[in-house]
Amino acid sequence: MTLKLCQGPKCHQYCTKDRLKGPAGSKTYQTRRKSRLYYGDNFCSMNCMNDWLDKFVDRAINHFGRTTEPKHLTEENAWSKEYDWRDDETRYVYVNGITNERRPLTEEQFRDSNYTLNIGE
Ligand SMILES: [Zn+2]
Repeated sequence: MTLKLCQGPKCHQYCTKDRLKGPAGSKTYQTRRKSRLYYGDNFCSMNCMNDWLDKFVDRAINHFGRTTEPKHLTEENAWSKEYDWRDDETRYVYVNGITNERRPLTEEQFRDSNYTLNIGE
């Protein structure tokens, strides 16, 4: 099992007992290492995630593309996946938020994050 390091830039500055590691006499507060990081899959806590956002969010948005114009929800991009259980059975559907049209989905299509009916964002 590989341990992942928390990506919080100040993780080691939070002086909690579980961060104090190393041989007796030369222990230091260290970045948390865990098999599973529950905050954004990369951070040990909401604090560490917010520290990263405070420091890097502008650079990240500029890198991946800043929204400079409002986006518009239209018939072409208003599809969202939904499911409901009824009679001990799960039904998956694509629902259009503009037209309310419903189209059946297979469970595989529902779980496939690349599968979409939307054109554009
Ligand atoms: Zn952390």
